[in-house]
Amino acid sequence: MAKDELMNYEKALEQFEVVIGLEVHVELNTKTKMFCGCRNEFGDEPNTNVCPICIALPGALPAVNRTAVESSISIGLALGCEIAPNGRFARKNYFYPDLAKNFQTSQYDEPIAYEGQLTVELPSGSTHTIQIERAHMEEDAGKLTHIGGSTGRIQGAEYSLVDYNRAGVPLVEIVTKPVYGAGSEAPELAAAYVRSIREIVKGLGVSDARMERGNVRCDANVSLRPHGQEKLGTRTETKNVNSLRSIERAVRYEIQRQAALLAKGTAIVQETRHWHEDKGATSAGRPKSDADDYRYFPEPDLVPVQPSKELIELLRAKLPEKPADRRKRVQAEWGFADLEFRDVVNADLLDQIEETVKAGAKPQAARKWWTGELARIANSQDKDVTELEISGAFVAELAELVEAGKLNDRLAREVLTYVLDGEGSPSEIVAARGLEVVSDDGALIAAIDAALAKQPDVLDAIREGRMQAAGAVIGAVMQAMKGSADAGRVRQLLIDKANA
Ligand SMILES: [Zn+2]
Repeated sequence: MAKDELMNYEKALEQFEVVIGLEVHVELNTKTKMFCGCRNEFGDEPNTNVCPICIALPGALPAVNRTAVESSISIGLALGCEIAPNGRFARKNYFYPDLAKNFQTSQYDEPIAYEGQLTVELPSGSTHTIQIERAHMEEDAGKLTHIGGSTGRIQGAEYSLVDYNRAGVPLVEIVTKPVYGAGSEAPELAAAYVRSIREIVKGLGVSDARMERGNVRCDANVSLRPHGQEKLGTRTETKNVNSLRSIERAVRYEIQRQAALLAKGTAIVQETRHWHEDKGATSAGRPKSDADDYRYFPEPDLVPVQPSKELIELLRAKLPEKPADRRKRVQAEWGFADLEFRDVVNADLLDQIEETVKAGAKPQAARKWWTGELARIANSQDKDVTELEISGAFVAELAELVEAGKLNDRLAREVLTYVLDGEGSPSEIVAARGLEVVSDDGALIAAIDAALAKQPDVLDAIREGRMQAAGAVIGAVMQAMKGSADAGRVRQLLIDKANA
């Protein structure tokens, strides 16, 4: 992969206006697929959830999944969209090995939902309303795994495997109108938008919304134009970016890459691009013209979807609170200062903290664990903190053990690493590894006496008010107890001894 020339970000923003557009695919968590009765389940043995319909054997006839339609309507309503009283499916014709049908059943000129908007909050605290063009239903394709190459891509691979379990899984594709005016915050806005979509579909319960599993994927369109120019610049579309951090990085990269090319007078190629998390760069995919001709035509095997007004109103009445309302509510419930709360939102930790608080932790303790030690561990592993394999219940348990004085901070951090290694719950690990803080004063006094025997002057120093002298003894006791002593308790026992 040739290395791209990049323009300094601030300089790029001085010279160009950024316009973005986002397409988000949401995989629905229906029990069965979009048009057949096959299980919709992540991680099953390859090619076990397939049938004549989802691999389109001759004569097989599809039928629409009612729950998928209802979920799609709910998403549309949550995005403030109009719901089409009558919508047809269409065939989008193209060949790719992960698509056994040779066409994807999608919606074309009659999406189920259109003309909505979503207001999202940026890390800076400002808000931006994004116009939604449409949300339409379609089916997912299968999954190709390329074997033998170094990059996992088809180039250089010796052979490829195809798994059709995902073929026919219901998707909703949400498309924005061009987004103007985000300025230097365009990358953050793209991520904040996807975060809000994820919160909405999770809140609705219509998707597992796990980005690392591809339940929510984003195609990010980026184009630049000189300030004051009306005509939009040529855009690129970075495909299937599957973490919030990657979305932000990919948009920023494209801004810098395109700016460098435009400044040299080089035209931008309209194309799809791939994001490489490891290299922190995009690379060219395939050229993409606006006139890609998929020969869309109405799907003759499916009746139009005609949701009744009653159904739409029923689903509207069931909508959960909006992400913005939820944030206001939980911030008040948790008593977080604005800055603390913004950190939580930007770290994408609302769900985790809510789960931890529900499991019994104090809100501030939950916040400290997630934004502190857990974020630090995730960062050191180059992961999002939300990807760590730990439940809110375990974090709550850890916080309670600290609160009860059974673990000090150092032991709690140690226990946490074992939890993340999958050794069990914090209590189980404490029991199995004998990591509890030594609260037996007798053992502590014995260790203090042993330390004092080597530093006999310390007691006199404490009596004279030179408290810093206590540090050496406390340190020696902590070392002798291998960190499992409560330093505060050791200090108190030492002072008691001096004043006895
Ligand atoms: Zn099937």
